[in-house]
Amino acid sequence: MAESNLRIAIQKSGRLFDDSVLLLKECGIDLRNVKDRLRTESDNFPLEVFFLRDDDIPQYVEDGVADIGIVGENVVAEKNKHVEVVEKLGFGKCRLSIAVPRSQDYPGISSLQGKRIATSYPHMVNSFLEKNNVTAEIHEISGSVEIAPGIGLADVIADLVSSGSTLFMNGLKEVETILHSQAVLIRNHLLNDNTVQLLDKLLFRIQAVKKAKRNKYILLNAPNESLDKIISLLPGMKSPTVLPLAQSGWSSVHSVLSEDQFWECIENLKSAGAQGILVIPIEKMVI
Ligand code: ATP
Ligand code: ZN
Repeated sequence: MAESNLRIAIQKSGRLFDDSVLLLKECGIDLRNVKDRLRTESDNFPLEVFFLRDDDIPQYVEDGVADIGIVGENVVAEKNKHVEVVEKLGFGKCRLSIAVPRSQDYPGISSLQGKRIATSYPHMVNSFLEKNNVTAEIHEISGSVEIAPGIGLADVIADLVSSGSTLFMNGLKEVETILHSQAVLIRNHLLNDNTVQLLDKLLFRIQAVKKAKRNKYILLNAPNESLDKIISLLPGMKSPTVLPLAQSGWSSVHSVLSEDQFWECIENLKSAGAQGILVIPIEKMVI
């Protein structure tokens, strides 16, 4: 039997499209014609890509029409399909929040009692209200939720927020967060061995790309008498590489630093005598 492709569903257009295609590219997977297509294939990885509305992706993956998919956690939680989340992807970050008119006092969740709430996420809003013993009227609308209070369709809204500028422009303020979300990779529960192997191969690459993004390669020059101190300041993967410079009494030190240790570490390295510090992005990282 011919080995089959791994079939992935990604958003056809919208906020997750560019980052989903970029992630595959960073994983070394070239795609033909990604614009305005329903499906495409890769020439250098056994991958077939379906372009769909994000709302439909959990269903397609549950049904096995696609083996895996890239979609927001918000959609996974709302659709509640039988799919498994295999990896958080670090993009498409947002939160599902409740917002009320800015002019209105907000003493707490109980003040939502009896209110009309406009949202595209009725299930999640419902369970949030239930958990907080609040009964409200949920009005499901599919888009432009933020204008609902302004046109008298609802008293408050529950919608996705990232910077908060859309809420601000519509005279609303965020008062409760229901869920923090980012794009995730989901999979069908029953994949055959060949498909699982391909998924593992893709996951290995995704993890290498993610790790690389969180880390930087650092090169610096140091007088030999400061080397011990400088090496003790570098967390590194293992021990740093130390090479002699042409100028005697000096060495070049190479190591890897994570983004969160970065600024503090650079300050300390400088005070310990490091000079000519170079920081370089890493493309892939496999430990
Ligand atoms: P589709 O046509 O595929 O149904 P859509 O209009 O439902 O698209 P988009 O607005 O493109 O969806 O958002 C897709 C996903 O991007 C969201 O489900 C969410 O996970 C994520 N996202 C990140 N930031 C935001 C934001 N500020 N507002 C809305 N979604 C966001
Ligand atoms: Zn959608």
